[in-house]
Amino acid sequence: MKVFVVNCGSSSIKYQLFDMGDESVLAKGMLERVGEDSSRLRHAAGAKRVERTAAAPDHAAGLRCILDVLTDPADGVLAAAEEIDGVGHRVVHGGEAMRESRLIDEGVLEVIRANAALAPLHNPPNLAGITAAMDAIPGAPQVAVFDTAFLSTLPPRAYRYAVPAEWYTRHQVRRYGFHGTSHRFVTLRAAELLGVPADRVDLITCHLGNGCSMTAVAAGAAVDHSMGLTPLEGLVMGTRSGDVDPAVIFHMARRAGMDLDELDAALNKRSGLLGVSGVSNDMRDVLAAAEGGNADAALAVELFVYRIVQYVGAYHAVLGGCDALVLTGGIGENAVSVRARICEGLSGLGASCEASRNASTVGGAAGAITPDGAGLPVWVVPTDEELMIARDTRDVAAKRA
Ligand code: ADP
Repeated sequence: MKVFVVNCGSSSIKYQLFDMGDESVLAKGMLERVGEDSSRLRHAAGAKRVERTAAAPDHAAGLRCILDVLTDPADGVLAAAEEIDGVGHRVVHGGEAMRESRLIDEGVLEVIRANAALAPLHNPPNLAGITAAMDAIPGAPQVAVFDTAFLSTLPPRAYRYAVPAEWYTRHQVRRYGFHGTSHRFVTLRAAELLGVPADRVDLITCHLGNGCSMTAVAAGAAVDHSMGLTPLEGLVMGTRSGDVDPAVIFHMARRAGMDLDELDAALNKRSGLLGVSGVSNDMRDVLAAAEGGNADAALAVELFVYRIVQYVGAYHAVLGGCDALVLTGGIGENAVSVRARICEGLSGLGASCEASRNASTVGGAAGAITPDGAGLPVWVVPTDEELMIARDTRDVAAKRA
């Protein structure tokens, strides 16, 4: 079975084509600058690399351009688009209704449309990608895999905010959470690695990429999560502030005369590692600057680590202990010094880092970075959201057949 995974952003389409027989990746790539005069496609199939510019004024044209490369008579990996047995779409926001991956029908499309107000940058391009794929590959089942679905098991005490109740009942103000597909993938994989049944594993999963989020998982299900109504809440991120006192917004509006759009942009795009360090949103650059003696960069890393330690403490208490803390995402999978500092901050919970394990568990490797028998085992588990989407697409399509 061949599954095509599509992740449409406002100006990009990322994709992977899987052979689900052995879960191998037949091809993958990214089309950038969709909607501009000239788009750029970077495609890889095995050792073969293709780069081309193309005209993709919209997502439909972009998808056709990708399918052309996949079915290129000279060196495509497919003879025809009809060989695709299922298309899996990453959809950011499924609201309260979508608790699992779903075969896309009119009802599912309506839910994605209805939640566009909660994810204005993501749901509309996700929808555009779905419509384009339904037109281009009409014979294949189309499956929506929601970022919010894994977090739909949060209890009200974790997802409600202590604000007037009608903000929830009339305006859908609650914690939804994001990165759910990644948290689910690493939960299942960590359970496997730890030798604990997936429906009995208790974990704190920590996705540290450009966006950063943490989930408390009890008996395999999410019970708390750090992102909120939007991805702005929680941990310090590349350009997002994470938690701040909401009164900071009133204060800056009154004192500095900032309007809502400026505040939104400042907290989402000019804060986090970038805002504090003044150097970069990229952890590698910030670490390099800190090592070079830049005090602001050093403080940014300290804030980043401290917030993680605070959340782990909270979730450890919520769970009453857990089988492991799981680190993933670009920083979790690679940033040895950040991981060492997280472990140092958690020494009170029994998470002492073993330097050799920490140093060698990088670049896609999985494993514990704490010694055997640690009070709080810390594991690095590389995430693979595309594979999770492909597996769901296979399973949902099989149920339909
Ligand atoms: P995204 O959230 O966009 O998918 P990634 O999961 O790839 O991003 O994570 C990007 C982050 O990972 C960046 O901050 C980058 O600096 C960091 N990162 C990647 N490799 C390393 C490394 N070797 N050391 C430190 N940070 C790293």
